[in-house]
Amino acid sequence: MRKKLIAANWKMYKTPHESENFVNALLPHMHEHTRDEVVLCPPFIDIPAVVKATHGSNIGIGGQDMFWEKEGAYTGAISAPMLRSVGCSHVIIGHSERRQYFSETDDTVNRKLRAALAAGLKPIVCVGEVLQEREAGITEDVLRRQCSVAFREISGGEAIPIIIAYEPVWAIGTGKTATPELAADAHRVIRAEAKEAFGEGVATQMRILYGGSVKPDNAKALMSQEEIDGALVGGASLDPKSFVAIVKW
Ligand code: PEP
Repeated sequence: MRKKLIAANWKMYKTPHESENFVNALLPHMHEHTRDEVVLCPPFIDIPAVVKATHGSNIGIGGQDMFWEKEGAYTGAISAPMLRSVGCSHVIIGHSERRQYFSETDDTVNRKLRAALAAGLKPIVCVGEVLQEREAGITEDVLRRQCSVAFREISGGEAIPIIIAYEPVWAIGTGKTATPELAADAHRVIRAEAKEAFGEGVATQMRILYGGSVKPDNAKALMSQEEIDGALVGGASLDPKSFVAIVKW
């Protein structure tokens, strides 16, 4: 059985003080919640405050992006060892907003993924088709390409910590959600690609999350699908009440 994981992607929202308030509102609901793993991915500047506020809890912390080099003259960048050094266990890689606004490509996703694994981070790798690709009937090809490039030069043993988030781009922040069946179909394609790259054992264990307008009122239908191993939540993760409702699906 794969333990479900619910990750909050706060994008470019919240100051350290606001982050701390969020954690204080969340913590009382988390003490006895062992069914699912919960990870918060705040903006970089909030990470120390969130790490401190969640200390001693079962909540993991992740970065929203990273650069593949360990250190160097890369103004504005943060490396995987740096994320580890402040207490991160996870990192989001290849989010569609990074692909759209910051020129992320399948190749840079692969470089970041290898660097994250080398540093001992659990990467949450985002893949997903845009509306045009879905309408053109090429969703499966897009997912296969994104995964196969992301998985290059990674061995089965190294791949164990990888988590995939299937995020159809047309569903992110739009209020449109993939049907549970459509999401489960995409997850099967991704798992098949993982099997080809890493073998059946690793692919069977790999968690594949769904992301795209997950809300309290659709969380149960999505999370009840056997193929959906959790959720990457954007907008609805900003308010502790709606995030708790999703965690308690
Ligand atoms: C996301 O940012 O990964 C996301 C899925 O956003 P939203 O839940 O707002 O669609």
